[in-house]
Amino acid sequence: MEPNQNKKVVTRFAPSPTGFMHVGGVRTALYAWAYARKNNGTFILRIEDTDKAREVEGSIEHIMKSLKWLGVEWDEGPDIGGPNTPYKQSERLDSYKKYAQILIDKGFAYADPFTEEEVEIFRKKAEADKKPFLYREYRPENPPVWDGSMPLRFKVPQIKSYEWDDLVRGHLKAGEEALDDFILIKSDGYPTYNFAHIIDDLEMGVTHIMRGDEFISSVPKFLSLYDALEIKRPEFVMLPPIMGPDGKKKLGKRDGAKDILDYEKEGYLPEAMINFLAYIGWNPGGEKEVISKKEFIELFDIDKIHISGGKFNEEKLDWINKEHIKLLNEKIVKENILKWLPEFLKNEKLVPLIRERISKWSDVKIMVDSGELDFFYKKPEIDPSLLLFKNTNKKIIENNLNEVIKVFNELEKFEFENIKEILNKISESKENRGQVLHPVRYALSGLSKSPDPFIISFILGKEETLERLKSATLKLENL
Ligand code: GLU
Repeated sequence: MEPNQNKKVVTRFAPSPTGFMHVGGVRTALYAWAYARKNNGTFILRIEDTDKAREVEGSIEHIMKSLKWLGVEWDEGPDIGGPNTPYKQSERLDSYKKYAQILIDKGFAYADPFTEEEVEIFRKKAEADKKPFLYREYRPENPPVWDGSMPLRFKVPQIKSYEWDDLVRGHLKAGEEALDDFILIKSDGYPTYNFAHIIDDLEMGVTHIMRGDEFISSVPKFLSLYDALEIKRPEFVMLPPIMGPDGKKKLGKRDGAKDILDYEKEGYLPEAMINFLAYIGWNPGGEKEVISKKEFIELFDIDKIHISGGKFNEEKLDWINKEHIKLLNEKIVKENILKWLPEFLKNEKLVPLIRERISKWSDVKIMVDSGELDFFYKKPEIDPSLLLFKNTNKKIIENNLNEVIKVFNELEKFEFENIKEILNKISESKENRGQVLHPVRYALSGLSKSPDPFIISFILGKEETLERLKSATLKLENL
């Protein structure tokens, strides 16, 4: 019963379909996938659906959709099959039965005849003796023949302490108390995780098991089962947890641990998401913080995975996403920004201005909703007294505005660079540049804080700019 001995790396992501994919699950998938890709190995998607009570409808589709959004493609899986099909545990019951029988034949499994009440008595006794409750201390003397109506329990062949190597944590040990007669097959006919994953990993030839480090305390149990079945242990790679922003406890829903597809809806880039999640718990070393998917695969290695948990920080995600937007070509940026703009603001000229100010596409909507872009399609309300830059005499401002109107009128090419050049030239000839730039900016936007007058004039266009400047000048006359 040797596992697949060829040297090819085989990893798997084995989620339970118990709800949406959260960032922790995604990161596990990313590491297993990257490791397989880097080593020209195989990456398997396996659905661990043996806890029917916890199953949530639609989760399997959701898991696949999430991985597809990220571009994490699997080589074998429930939808595409593969040499070890099926890839859903609920469809692999025959395999578990086969190995259960092998264990029964070897004397390493027994039907558990005890009722809940009897187990409660054992538990109380252990409590009274101030000892941990272990099933193996209450083994039935003459267990009935297992007919599937009772749970099938593993009979730990040898009570001993175990040692093993974990590729992240190094050499680990655990005492005898970590071993117990755990359930292999429940009375509903489904196997437990402890049993099923070992059989699947064996049959699927998995070489490296990557999973969250909450499974560390169960490893001795797994090892005793590998021994009982005389199968070679795969490599263990226990991944550090993702911690909440305070770094003190595991990331929970209250810290904003959300559905990975919510990030898609908010307009994050999948590559940025990969970059961000990959760096929680792993770092290739060096200064580089922004990496592509391809670089992630090239740089990924198990020995750079951290032992302690990394913090989940959405501000960091926003920063990384902004950096990834900078790497996109103009056409894609334009398409996305325009897509997020309402009809009345769909103006290509707004793209460079918006691009500077967003971290993710949904920020475009936030900008629109805040009203800060309203003046681009609606004439602003002007309070003429606010045109006066630092108490500059009204006449000076009026003259300056008229000068700009005149020069703009004559400007043939009303392009950003030309506008900037001419406005700078006029403003530099004055006592203070603000005496020109401020009234122009305010006359055009009606806001005390807004983008610079060059970009606003360019976006509004010659006609609208002149109209707004003239109307402000008129108001100033009447002040
Ligand atoms: N089905 C387990 C879970 O979702 C996966 C553990 C493993 O990768 O072995 O937690």
